[in-house]
Amino acid sequence: MMTTMNKTVDPESQEAWPKVDGLHVIDTGPSGRGASWWENLGRCPQRWAYDYLNGTEGRKPSSAPALIKGTLVHIGLAHFYESVRREQEGSLNPSLVPIHGPVAAVHAKARLEAGEDHTNPWHKYADTAAKAVERYVQWVGPSRQPEIIAVEKRYEINIPLVEEHVGAEYARYSCRVDLVAKDSNGKVWFTDHKTTSGQVNATKKQGFTLSLQFLGLMRIGRMIYGDDFGGTMINLVALTDKSGEPIRVKPQMAPWAVGCFDQVLLDRAFLLKGLIDQERPLHSWPKALTEQGPCLDRYGPCPYTMRCRFGPGE
Ligand code: SF4
Repeated sequence: MMTTMNKTVDPESQEAWPKVDGLHVIDTGPSGRGASWWENLGRCPQRWAYDYLNGTEGRKPSSAPALIKGTLVHIGLAHFYESVRREQEGSLNPSLVPIHGPVAAVHAKARLEAGEDHTNPWHKYADTAAKAVERYVQWVGPSRQPEIIAVEKRYEINIPLVEEHVGAEYARYSCRVDLVAKDSNGKVWFTDHKTTSGQVNATKKQGFTLSLQFLGLMRIGRMIYGDDFGGTMINLVALTDKSGEPIRVKPQMAPWAVGCFDQVLLDRAFLLKGLIDQERPLHSWPKALTEQGPCLDRYGPCPYTMRCRFGPGE
Protein backbone atom coordinates (compact mmCIF):
# COMPACT_ATOMS: atom_id res chain seq x y z
CA MET A 1 0.00 0.00 0.00
CA MET A 2 1.18 3.53 -0.74
CA THR A 3 0.30 6.24 1.75
CA THR A 4 -0.47 9.73 0.57
CA MET A 5 -1.07 12.76 2.81
CA ASN A 6 -4.58 11.68 3.66
CA LYS A 7 -5.21 8.11 2.64
CA THR A 8 -3.76 4.77 1.70
CA VAL A 9 -3.76 3.91 -2.01
CA ASP A 10 -3.89 0.33 -3.26
CA PRO A 11 -0.94 0.04 -5.75
CA GLU A 12 -3.17 -2.08 -8.01
CA SER A 13 -5.91 0.56 -8.14
CA GLN A 14 -6.37 3.16 -10.86
CA GLU A 15 -5.66 5.88 -8.31
CA ALA A 16 -2.07 4.64 -8.13
CA TRP A 17 -1.50 5.35 -11.83
CA PRO A 18 0.83 8.33 -12.32
CA LYS A 19 -0.55 11.66 -13.51
CA VAL A 20 0.54 14.01 -16.28
CA ASP A 21 -1.30 17.32 -16.68
CA GLY A 22 -4.02 16.21 -14.28
CA LEU A 23 -4.89 13.00 -16.18
CA HIS A 24 -3.74 9.51 -15.29
CA VAL A 25 -1.47 7.25 -17.37
CA ILE A 26 -2.27 3.52 -17.15
CA ASP A 27 0.42 1.35 -15.59
CA THR A 28 1.66 -1.12 -18.20
CA GLY A 29 4.84 -1.95 -16.28
CA PRO A 30 6.31 -5.29 -15.22
CA SER A 31 4.12 -7.57 -13.13
CA GLY A 32 6.92 -8.47 -10.67
CA ARG A 33 7.35 -12.24 -10.91
CA GLY A 34 6.48 -12.57 -14.57
CA ALA A 35 8.02 -14.26 -17.59
CA SER A 36 11.01 -11.88 -17.76
CA TRP A 37 11.93 -12.54 -14.13
CA TRP A 38 11.87 -16.31 -14.66
CA GLU A 39 13.32 -16.20 -18.17
CA ASN A 40 16.28 -14.07 -17.10
CA LEU A 41 16.97 -16.47 -14.25
CA GLY A 42 17.11 -19.35 -16.72
CA ARG A 43 19.16 -17.49 -19.34
CA CYS A 44 21.87 -16.03 -17.09
CA PRO A 45 21.67 -16.14 -13.28
CA GLN A 46 24.44 -13.50 -13.09
CA ARG A 47 22.38 -11.01 -15.10
CA TRP A 48 19.35 -11.89 -13.01
CA ALA A 49 21.31 -11.21 -9.80
CA TYR A 50 22.52 -7.81 -11.03
CA ASP A 51 18.98 -6.93 -12.07
CA TYR A 52 17.09 -8.14 -9.03
CA LEU A 53 19.49 -8.35 -6.08
CA ASN A 54 21.39 -5.16 -6.70
CA GLY A 55 18.70 -2.72 -5.68
CA THR A 56 17.68 -2.19 -9.29
CA GLU A 57 14.49 -4.23 -9.27
CA GLY A 58 11.78 -2.24 -10.98
CA ARG A 59 14.49 -0.38 -12.90
CA LYS A 60 13.62 1.81 -15.83
CA PRO A 61 12.95 -0.04 -19.07
CA SER A 62 15.95 -0.46 -21.34
CA SER A 63 16.74 2.41 -23.68
CA ALA A 64 16.72 0.01 -26.66
CA PRO A 65 14.63 1.73 -29.38
CA ALA A 66 12.48 -1.37 -30.03
CA LEU A 67 11.52 -1.58 -26.36
CA ILE A 68 10.72 2.11 -26.09
CA LYS A 69 8.56 2.08 -29.22
CA GLY A 70 6.80 -1.09 -28.07
CA THR A 71 6.11 0.37 -24.63
CA LEU A 72 4.72 3.57 -26.11
CA VAL A 73 2.37 1.72 -28.50
CA HIS A 74 1.23 -0.47 -25.58
CA ILE A 75 0.36 2.65 -23.61
CA GLY A 76 -1.71 4.05 -26.47
CA LEU A 77 -3.59 0.78 -26.99
CA ALA A 78 -4.21 0.41 -23.25
CA HIS A 79 -5.88 3.82 -23.17
CA PHE A 80 -7.96 2.98 -26.25
CA TYR A 81 -9.26 -0.28 -24.78
CA GLU A 82 -9.82 1.18 -21.32
CA SER A 83 -12.02 3.88 -22.87
CA VAL A 84 -13.95 1.17 -24.79
CA ARG A 85 -14.30 -0.84 -21.57
CA ARG A 86 -15.68 2.17 -19.74
CA GLU A 87 -18.14 2.83 -22.55
CA GLN A 88 -19.32 -0.79 -22.40
CA GLU A 89 -19.66 -0.63 -18.62
CA GLY A 90 -21.94 2.35 -19.11
CA SER A 91 -22.25 3.20 -15.43
CA LEU A 92 -20.53 5.87 -13.44
CA ASN A 93 -18.04 3.94 -11.39
CA PRO A 94 -16.55 6.15 -8.65
CA SER A 95 -13.25 4.22 -8.70
CA LEU A 96 -12.57 5.27 -12.32
CA VAL A 97 -9.99 8.02 -12.67
CA PRO A 98 -9.75 10.41 -15.65
CA ILE A 99 -7.25 9.18 -18.25
CA HIS A 100 -5.58 10.51 -21.40
CA GLY A 101 -6.85 9.69 -24.87
CA PRO A 102 -4.85 7.01 -26.75
CA VAL A 103 -2.55 9.36 -28.71
CA ALA A 104 -2.09 11.89 -25.89
CA ALA A 105 -1.18 9.00 -23.58
CA VAL A 106 1.86 8.19 -25.76
CA HIS A 107 3.26 11.69 -25.30
CA ALA A 108 2.31 11.71 -21.60
CA LYS A 109 4.30 8.49 -21.11
CA ALA A 110 7.32 10.06 -22.88
CA ARG A 111 7.12 12.97 -20.45
CA LEU A 112 6.86 10.61 -17.48
CA GLU A 113 10.04 8.83 -18.59
CA ALA A 114 12.08 11.74 -19.91
CA GLY A 115 10.59 14.93 -18.48
CA GLU A 116 10.98 17.87 -20.86
CA ASP A 117 14.28 16.64 -22.35
CA HIS A 118 13.13 16.39 -25.96
CA THR A 119 16.48 14.99 -27.11
CA ASN A 120 15.71 11.87 -25.07
CA PRO A 121 14.81 8.69 -27.05
CA TRP A 122 11.38 8.52 -25.35
CA HIS A 123 10.41 11.79 -27.02
CA LYS A 124 12.27 10.89 -30.21
CA TYR A 125 10.15 7.76 -30.73
CA ALA A 126 6.89 9.16 -29.35
CA ASP A 127 5.80 10.62 -32.72
CA THR A 128 6.28 7.29 -34.51
CA ALA A 129 4.38 5.43 -31.77
CA ALA A 130 1.62 8.06 -31.65
CA LYS A 131 1.07 7.72 -35.42
CA ALA A 132 0.88 3.93 -35.08
CA VAL A 133 -1.71 4.30 -32.31
CA GLU A 134 -3.70 6.82 -34.33
CA ARG A 135 -3.79 4.43 -37.31
CA TYR A 136 -4.76 1.56 -35.01
CA VAL A 137 -7.71 3.48 -33.57
CA GLN A 138 -8.82 4.39 -37.10
CA TRP A 139 -8.65 0.74 -38.20
CA VAL A 140 -10.13 -0.92 -35.15
CA GLY A 141 -12.26 1.81 -33.53
CA PRO A 142 -15.29 1.55 -35.87
CA SER A 143 -15.49 -2.27 -35.63
CA ARG A 144 -17.54 -4.15 -33.06
CA GLN A 145 -15.44 -4.64 -29.94
CA PRO A 146 -15.47 -7.81 -27.84
CA GLU A 147 -16.72 -7.62 -24.27
CA ILE A 148 -13.73 -6.21 -22.46
CA ILE A 149 -13.20 -7.56 -18.96
CA ALA A 150 -9.98 -5.75 -18.07
CA VAL A 151 -7.04 -3.82 -19.49
CA GLU A 152 -3.45 -4.26 -18.26
CA LYS A 153 -4.73 -6.66 -15.63
CA ARG A 154 -2.18 -8.12 -13.22
CA TYR A 155 -2.67 -11.74 -12.10
CA GLU A 156 -0.58 -13.74 -9.69
CA ILE A 157 -0.74 -17.41 -8.74
CA ASN A 158 1.32 -19.80 -6.64
CA ILE A 159 2.63 -22.85 -8.48
CA PRO A 160 1.77 -25.73 -6.10
CA LEU A 161 4.66 -27.99 -7.26
CA VAL A 162 7.21 -25.26 -6.49
CA GLU A 163 5.57 -24.36 -3.20
CA GLU A 164 5.66 -27.98 -2.10
CA HIS A 165 9.35 -28.56 -2.89
CA VAL A 166 11.05 -25.17 -2.53
CA GLY A 167 8.67 -23.01 -0.52
CA ALA A 168 5.95 -20.43 -1.10
CA GLU A 169 8.33 -17.49 -1.52
CA TYR A 170 9.75 -19.11 -4.68
CA ALA A 171 6.40 -20.22 -6.07
CA ARG A 172 4.86 -16.96 -7.24
CA TYR A 173 4.20 -16.46 -10.93
CA SER A 174 2.57 -13.28 -12.20
CA CYS A 175 1.64 -11.66 -15.47
CA ARG A 176 0.14 -8.44 -16.71
CA VAL A 177 -2.33 -9.12 -19.51
CA ASP A 178 -2.70 -6.36 -22.09
CA LEU A 179 -6.34 -7.14 -22.81
CA VAL A 180 -8.76 -9.59 -21.19
CA ALA A 181 -11.90 -10.05 -23.29
CA LYS A 182 -14.82 -12.43 -23.61
CA ASP A 183 -16.07 -13.73 -26.97
CA SER A 184 -19.67 -14.36 -27.95
CA ASN A 185 -19.39 -17.98 -26.68
CA GLY A 186 -18.44 -16.78 -23.21
CA LYS A 187 -14.78 -17.79 -23.53
CA VAL A 188 -12.17 -15.51 -21.94
CA TRP A 189 -9.10 -14.67 -24.03
CA PHE A 190 -5.78 -13.13 -22.98
CA THR A 191 -4.49 -10.84 -25.73
CA ASP A 192 -0.92 -9.58 -25.96
CA HIS A 193 -0.11 -6.59 -28.19
CA LYS A 194 3.04 -6.99 -30.27
CA THR A 195 4.41 -4.26 -32.49
CA THR A 196 6.25 -5.09 -35.67
CA SER A 197 8.50 -2.73 -37.58
CA GLY A 198 7.99 -4.61 -40.85
CA GLN A 199 4.81 -5.74 -42.52
CA VAL A 200 2.12 -7.32 -40.39
CA ASN A 201 2.50 -10.98 -41.21
CA ALA A 202 0.54 -13.65 -39.38
CA THR A 203 2.81 -16.49 -40.46
CA LYS A 204 5.70 -15.05 -38.40
CA LYS A 205 3.86 -15.91 -35.19
CA GLN A 206 2.45 -19.31 -36.02
CA GLY A 207 5.18 -21.68 -34.79
CA PHE A 208 4.54 -23.86 -31.76
CA THR A 209 5.64 -21.35 -29.20
CA LEU A 210 8.13 -22.10 -26.45
CA SER A 211 7.78 -18.60 -25.04
CA LEU A 212 7.58 -18.70 -21.25
CA GLN A 213 5.37 -15.62 -21.48
CA PHE A 214 2.66 -17.43 -23.46
CA LEU A 215 3.05 -20.67 -21.54
CA GLY A 216 2.58 -18.64 -18.35
CA LEU A 217 -0.50 -16.90 -19.76
CA MET A 218 -2.00 -20.33 -20.49
CA ARG A 219 -1.15 -21.55 -16.98
CA ILE A 220 -2.68 -18.55 -15.25
CA GLY A 221 -5.69 -18.37 -17.58
CA ARG A 222 -6.57 -22.02 -17.01
CA MET A 223 -6.07 -21.76 -13.26
CA ILE A 224 -8.28 -18.68 -12.92
CA TYR A 225 -10.95 -19.21 -15.57
CA GLY A 226 -10.95 -23.02 -15.86
CA ASP A 227 -13.06 -24.29 -18.77
CA ASP A 228 -14.13 -20.73 -19.56
CA PHE A 229 -10.59 -19.87 -20.66
CA GLY A 230 -10.33 -19.72 -24.45
CA GLY A 231 -6.56 -19.21 -24.73
CA THR A 232 -4.08 -16.57 -25.80
CA MET A 233 -4.05 -14.22 -28.76
CA ILE A 234 -1.42 -11.96 -30.29
CA ASN A 235 -2.58 -8.58 -31.57
CA LEU A 236 -0.01 -7.71 -34.25
CA VAL A 237 0.30 -3.97 -34.79
CA ALA A 238 2.37 -2.28 -37.50
CA LEU A 239 4.67 0.43 -36.23
CA THR A 240 5.36 2.25 -39.48
CA ASP A 241 3.63 0.32 -42.29
CA LYS A 242 0.72 2.61 -43.17
CA SER A 243 -1.08 -0.18 -45.05
CA GLY A 244 -0.63 -2.65 -42.18
CA GLU A 245 -4.06 -3.44 -40.84
CA PRO A 246 -3.67 -4.99 -37.36
CA ILE A 247 -4.42 -8.70 -37.18
CA ARG A 248 -5.09 -11.21 -34.41
CA VAL A 249 -3.07 -14.42 -34.41
CA LYS A 250 -3.72 -17.37 -32.13
CA PRO A 251 -0.29 -18.76 -31.21
CA GLN A 252 -0.04 -22.54 -31.33
CA MET A 253 1.08 -23.70 -27.93
CA ALA A 254 3.73 -26.43 -27.86
CA PRO A 255 1.83 -29.20 -26.02
CA TRP A 256 4.85 -30.79 -24.34
CA ALA A 257 6.08 -27.38 -23.13
CA VAL A 258 2.65 -26.55 -21.70
CA GLY A 259 2.82 -29.76 -19.67
CA CYS A 260 6.39 -29.03 -18.50
CA PHE A 261 5.70 -25.47 -17.31
CA ASP A 262 5.52 -26.18 -13.57
CA GLN A 263 8.61 -28.40 -13.70
CA VAL A 264 10.56 -25.66 -15.54
CA LEU A 265 9.76 -23.20 -12.77
CA LEU A 266 10.60 -25.80 -10.12
CA ASP A 267 14.08 -26.34 -11.64
CA ARG A 268 14.72 -22.59 -11.72
CA ALA A 269 13.46 -22.20 -8.16
CA PHE A 270 15.80 -24.99 -6.99
CA LEU A 271 18.72 -23.21 -8.65
CA LEU A 272 17.79 -19.87 -7.10
CA LYS A 273 17.23 -21.22 -3.61
CA GLY A 274 20.57 -23.07 -3.76
CA LEU A 275 22.46 -19.91 -4.70
CA ILE A 276 20.69 -17.79 -2.09
CA ASP A 277 21.22 -20.42 0.63
CA GLN A 278 24.93 -20.50 -0.26
CA GLU A 279 25.00 -16.70 0.16
CA ARG A 280 26.77 -16.53 -3.18
CA PRO A 281 28.56 -13.13 -3.53
CA LEU A 282 26.83 -10.84 -6.04
CA HIS A 283 29.64 -10.96 -8.63
CA SER A 284 30.00 -14.74 -8.49
CA TRP A 285 26.67 -15.98 -9.76
CA PRO A 286 26.67 -18.48 -12.69
CA LYS A 287 27.35 -16.70 -15.97
CA ALA A 288 26.06 -17.59 -19.44
CA LEU A 289 29.13 -16.21 -21.29
CA THR A 290 27.99 -16.76 -24.84
CA GLU A 291 28.68 -14.70 -27.94
CA GLN A 292 24.95 -14.51 -28.50
CA GLY A 293 21.97 -15.40 -26.33
CA PRO A 294 21.73 -13.35 -23.17
CA CYS A 295 25.14 -11.63 -23.66
CA LEU A 296 24.04 -10.15 -26.98
CA ASP A 297 20.36 -10.33 -27.74
CA ARG A 298 18.16 -8.47 -30.20
CA TYR A 299 18.11 -5.45 -27.89
CA GLY A 300 21.89 -5.16 -27.89
CA PRO A 301 24.65 -6.18 -25.48
CA CYS A 302 23.80 -7.12 -21.92
CA PRO A 303 24.28 -4.04 -19.69
CA TYR A 304 26.75 -5.98 -17.51
CA THR A 305 29.11 -6.99 -20.33
CA MET A 306 31.98 -4.86 -19.01
CA ARG A 307 31.72 -6.34 -15.52
CA CYS A 308 31.88 -9.85 -16.94
CA ARG A 309 34.89 -8.91 -19.07
CA PHE A 310 36.96 -6.80 -16.69
CA GLY A 311 35.57 -7.31 -13.19
CA PRO A 312 33.06 -5.91 -10.72
CA GLY A 313 34.45 -2.36 -10.74
CA GLU A 314 33.53 -1.80 -14.40
S1 SF4 B 1 27.46 -10.36 -20.04
FE1 SF4 B 1 26.59 -12.41 -20.38
S2 SF4 B 1 27.39 -13.64 -18.68
FE2 SF4 B 1 27.63 -11.50 -18.09
S3 SF4 B 1 25.78 -10.96 -16.94
FE3 SF4 B 1 25.42 -10.39 -19.07
S4 SF4 B 1 24.40 -12.17 -19.96
FE4 SF4 B 1 25.37 -12.87 -18.07
